[in-house]
Amino acid sequence: MSEHLKNRPSGAPETSFGFAPVEESARQGLVNEVFARVAPRYDLMNDLMSGGLHRLWKADLIDALNPPKGAVPFALLDVAGGTGDIAFRFLAEAGEGGRAVICDISAAMIEAGRARAAGKVQRLSFVQANAEALPFPSASFDAYTIAFGIRNVTHIDKALAEAFRVLRPGGRFLCLEFSSVQMPLLDTLYDAYSLNAIPRLGALVAGDAEAYRYLVESIRRFPDQESFMGMIEDAGFDRVRYRNLTGGIAALHSGWRL
Ligand code: SAM
Repeated sequence: MSEHLKNRPSGAPETSFGFAPVEESARQGLVNEVFARVAPRYDLMNDLMSGGLHRLWKADLIDALNPPKGAVPFALLDVAGGTGDIAFRFLAEAGEGGRAVICDISAAMIEAGRARAAGKVQRLSFVQANAEALPFPSASFDAYTIAFGIRNVTHIDKALAEAFRVLRPGGRFLCLEFSSVQMPLLDTLYDAYSLNAIPRLGALVAGDAEAYRYLVESIRRFPDQESFMGMIEDAGFDRVRYRNLTGGIAALHSGWRL
């Protein structure tokens, strides 16, 4: 167990890291430790854990974004972009006017993304930063995406406010995240699979059950579809909606900065 979990002085603001209570100020450091450890096996584990489903969900996000073809300039900011899945798919779909910035707080995840992109992906840059304090001017992007990233952020309201700020008026917000399963039976099966099998798979493939236990527990701590939709609206977005994917295992949330 991390020292942060064992030695919690009382009185400091608390939050959760997976199922464990932690000081708010310690949480991002713990999250960063997780991603530093899983980065080398991140892409392989995604395929194994989801049976490839994450690829379909990410394709759904790009379909919903429907980036312009041709020379129309279109700038995407992919926050918590990790090893680049969303940005690579976007650049493959968009015309020559498309460019993407992958922003992630983890140097290890960015390094893994850079290695994947090397010599293959053009019109792409990487920036290491926290979603809660983006180092970009206001109104500088046409679209903001965040896939399986926002539940790792300590102050989700700040990240949403930053998403709103960096989007130009008319810009699109899209968020893919694990959500609350909406089908009886599937929810029981999914609970059993995720809480037991995924940490075991993490131990086997990445040598790290704890990291994958956090990833699964953090899904349970994340607000359900309706609550998260309310948070997006509170950040100022319009025409906010969501679509359940695979019975609500994941949900695709979207909104517009008008
Ligand atoms: N978007 C990628 C994907 O869908 O495959 C990566 C998702 S991965 C589960 C979560 C990512 O969020 C990690 O790369 C992690 O470093 C990043 N992250 C966690 N907290 C963050 C924060 N506060 N700001 C920016 N990125 C963050």
